[in-house]
Amino acid sequence: MERTLVLLKPDAVQRDLIGEIITRLERKGLKITGLKMMRLSDELLNEHYSHLVGRSFFPEVKSFMQLTPVVALCLEGVEAVDTVRALCGITKAREAAPGTIRGEFAMSVQANLIHCSDSLETAKAEVPRFFKAEELFEYKDILETYVYNSS
Ligand code: UDP
Repeated sequence: MERTLVLLKPDAVQRDLIGEIITRLERKGLKITGLKMMRLSDELLNEHYSHLVGRSFFPEVKSFMQLTPVVALCLEGVEAVDTVRALCGITKAREAAPGTIRGEFAMSVQANLIHCSDSLETAKAEVPRFFKAEELFEYKDILETYVYNSS
């Protein structure tokens, strides 16, 4: 099982798409092991988007991410990192594949609704960045046997 981090960005909150997006992730068979609303501090964003610090658009991305609280989720599943990445679609939402979350609901590069960890290594850093140990839950999901069956 892998864990991955998802953030529902301020455009998802403003556009009332929180439920729609979480429904898609749940229906796919991903298990929610952490879920909360939070405001992102400058410090947290500098760390989370450290690969973008210094890019001309970074200040704008930061203010965008601080417009409203975001919804943070920790999702668990077999190959969850790549699975969630595929469900999200590419960064430039208007070119994201139909059927993906960005492809179905967004047009912008910046306001693309959702963040998800881009590799297992990133996920291992991002989950504890957003969730304290006591905010993550282990529990038996009785549907798991049917979701995965044998592999
Ligand atoms: N972003 C932007 N302009 C760009 C590139 C990125 O506004 O030219 C924003 C966008 O919201 C994106 C986030 O910065 O989702 C993080 O960028 P990254 O390249 O990590 O893309 P992601 O992994 O979110 O698809």
